[in-house]
Amino acid sequence: MDRLKVATVWLGGCAGCHMSFLDLDEFLIELAGKIELVYSPVVDVKEYPENVDVCLIEGAVCNEDNLEILHKIRARTKVLVSFGDCAVTGNVPALRNKLGLHNVENILQRAYVENAQNNPAIPKADGIVPRLLERVTPVHEAVSVEYFLPGCPPPADRIKALMTQVLGGKEPKLEGANLKFG
Ligand code: SF4
Repeated sequence: MDRLKVATVWLGGCAGCHMSFLDLDEFLIELAGKIELVYSPVVDVKEYPENVDVCLIEGAVCNEDNLEILHKIRARTKVLVSFGDCAVTGNVPALRNKLGLHNVENILQRAYVENAQNNPAIPKADGIVPRLLERVTPVHEAVSVEYFLPGCPPPADRIKALMTQVLGGKEPKLEGANLKFG
């Protein structure tokens, strides 16, 4: 049987959701025998491949790079999972949406000038530094998503429950016993 092609992606998040994925411990060994990890922050693949079966997306959509890769991921993936509260609701990165008019300028000024200890200067969005979007959005506002895995971060047991169902060819149901952990 072909192994399931799985990807994980890190958009505007703190990497905590990926840390929780690594907390799967010995289940990672079982997973390694059943999936092919084709793209992830933990593998050195530069281009998101075609024909991916499942992709876990950590983080909110914060800048133009996030948006561009998200559209590519959607076009090349059968099942997208919004992975963690930043992907599901916007969560921490979306706090900046409340800062009012000229949001992007306010954020850059605060981060790179007011809070800078050395060389205060706003970096230019020049192809290396991506341009921030005016508004941070959850993933499903940018592309359609099949499943939502909430939590900040989602506990490893819940990730395991989802992956077990996906690997078993079942429709994931994260309810009842699957929501109990610890
Ligand atoms: Fe980090 Fe929580 Fe966002 Fe995951 S949901 S990226 S752990 S802040």
